[in-house]
Amino acid sequence: MNYNIVVAGSGFAGLWAAASAARAVALAHAEDRVNVTVVSPSACMVIRPRLYEAVLDNVAPDLKPLFAALGVRHLAGSVTEIDVAGHRLGISDADGTPTVLNYDKFILATGSCLFMPPVPGLAEHAFSVDQLADAQALDRHLKALAAQPASLARDTVVIVGGGFTGIETAAEMPDRLRSVFGKEAKLRVVIIEQAATVGPDLGAVPRPVIEAALAECGVEIITHTSVAAIDARGLVLSSGQRIDAETVVWTAGARANPLAARIPGDKDGFGRISADPFLHAEGVPDIFVTGDVARAATDTQGNLALMSCQHALSLGRVAGHNAAAELLGLPLHPYSQPKYVTCLDLGAWGALYTEGWDRQVRLTRDEAKALKRDITTKWIYPPAADREAVFAVANPDYVIVP
Ligand SMILES: Cc1cc2nc3c(=O)[nH]c(=O)nc-3n(C[C@H](O)[C@H](O)[C@H](O)COP(=O)(O)OP(=O)(O)OC[C@H]3O[C@@H](n4cnc5c(N)ncnc54)[C@H](O)[C@@H]3O)c2cc1C
Repeated sequence: MNYNIVVAGSGFAGLWAAASAARAVALAHAEDRVNVTVVSPSACMVIRPRLYEAVLDNVAPDLKPLFAALGVRHLAGSVTEIDVAGHRLGISDADGTPTVLNYDKFILATGSCLFMPPVPGLAEHAFSVDQLADAQALDRHLKALAAQPASLARDTVVIVGGGFTGIETAAEMPDRLRSVFGKEAKLRVVIIEQAATVGPDLGAVPRPVIEAALAECGVEIITHTSVAAIDARGLVLSSGQRIDAETVVWTAGARANPLAARIPGDKDGFGRISADPFLHAEGVPDIFVTGDVARAATDTQGNLALMSCQHALSLGRVAGHNAAAELLGLPLHPYSQPKYVTCLDLGAWGALYTEGWDRQVRLTRDEAKALKRDITTKWIYPPAADREAVFAVANPDYVIVP
């Protein structure tokens, strides 16, 4: 009897779920009995943590050679339907033709997308750095603005949301604008944050460092404020104040990919599916959830995985291993990732590296920046297409942390 493991998504969680499943299949010498298939729009991994950067080079590495080395099949398309009872997936292939794929084990690894509340003008006029096409559109827009004469609106960028992504995008922006508009341009970069402080989810410990770094980069912060409306020439704040700005970048949070809603069971406020310790979707046989779509406990202290690469890379390995292990009668591996770190890019100031859920500051400025560069240009990248080398790091307890 042949079995099919299907992974939806080829991001951080999806790639490592496929690699880990392929490893378990190889360990059981079951390559002729178990197929591992990844379904995603294209066989590449978008390095989303780099999408706020000014230069978008090599941010979507090709996974085809790696999939070939691992014996993983790639199907170009999108999962559109999940028939839980029938163990069938509806797929729209690369040409938009509908097809059906049966699964014995299904791993949902379709990630997250930007939260877009119904703010007037948001969908039409705001930019983002959420997906590759969004980041490319922002890049084209900034370069096109250089052809216009200097003005307050041209030279002002408003970043809506002062969380992790908003801070990184804002801190990078002054240098990025200077490289487009010239060193003499009178730039204004503003973060709008509805909470009382910038980086509300990053906690009190690193906040003074973040605030000082943003100030040194020349980024203004407006807190206790939300956005009432956006248009082509600026935005209106909840205070009634208008800011003229031809560039508004929306970074206000993420939500689980909408496919998560097709799986029965509890969802959290981000739309993530509750996962049991083995990353089964709770109460749903033969479906595993991983990466940004999974609400999973990282430890026994009440901490939950965040929508982050750091967690997706481990969640993927565990989900993939367990999907294969369940088919092959191997022991399942519980997900556990007690060590938590953050590395926040702070533009020309440098970066900030913290450890622990209370984010104790460990490295700052150039030292942290060098680490950030290593993480985002090496550590999280897909490995070379060497089957044995990949299997050596695809086991479910392998964790990448500094
Ligand atoms: C600007 C930015 C900065 C970030 N910075 C950091 C950081 O510094 N550190 C950190 O840890 N995290 C960071 N993150 C978060 C991190 O990128 C995500 O948590 C991570 O990408 C989640 O991995 P994933 O595999 O779950 O999803 P993704 O990487 O989003 O991959 C999802 C995959 O699913 C595919 N897909 C989507 N819909 C379908 C469908 N219907 N059918 C089939 N395939 C589908 C996509 O094409 C993609 O291949 C950042 C994110 C952004 C946007």
